Amino acid sequence: MRGGARAVVYLASGNAHKAAELQALAERDGLALEIRSAKALGGMPAVVEDTGTFVGNARKKARALRAIAPPGSLVLADDSGVCVDFLDGGPGVESAYFAGPAGDAVANLRKLVEVMRGVPAGRRGARFYCLLLLIDGAGEERVFEGACAGALLDEPRGGAGFGYDPLFVPEGFTASYAELGDEVKGRLSHRARAWAALAAWWRARGGGRQAGD
Ligand code: IMP
Repeated sequence: MRGGARAVVYLASGNAHKAAELQALAERDGLALEIRSAKALGGMPAVVEDTGTFVGNARKKARALRAIAPPGSLVLADDSGVCVDFLDGGPGVESAYFAGPAGDAVANLRKLVEVMRGVPAGRRGARFYCLLLLIDGAGEERVFEGACAGALLDEPRGGAGFGYDPLFVPEGFTASYAELGDEVKGRLSHRARAWAALAAWWRARGGGRQAGD
């Protein structure tokens, strides 16, 4: 990194958990990046996530924030969700609005518990998916993806994390994301894996400050 300055990345999300997870990953990996939530720009502009794809929704969010960010900024969007085998991959890209347009995370979790009630252990497979779309200072867009396979519990367990974390057990574990906590989630989660791809690109590119930092 030149001069030790941290490049600012504006995150196109109102989800403080996503910003915290991404900032922790950047620090752990020694990347001189400062993840700033959209709040730093007065809040995330309203975006209707109606494209039906993770990449389409991420692009809409990133472009909306870029429109109000200082010229030349780095802008990042995270579109993610849980894809459940029994629900033919749903709620997937609609994970944030599974229980309705309000985007209530508690109601979403409760609904997933209910729709999976009575589904036997062998049919509870699920996969978290995360797509990160980064717009660089020149306006070029790049996509990085990560996934984490696992299964859904019958009832939520654990207090860490957010969203569907208490219901999801990653492959090779018996505890949920919410029981495993940030450190373990930061090693194997869908977001951590997408971040690893972004971090590799960032390092290969040589890092550095962007105009408008
Ligand atoms: P988005 O903010 O539009 O990408 O919606 C993401 C949805 O997937 C939200 O409902 C989140 O709760 C859920 N989600 C995404 N990543 C995670 C995660 O790491 N843990 C739990 N839920 C997640």
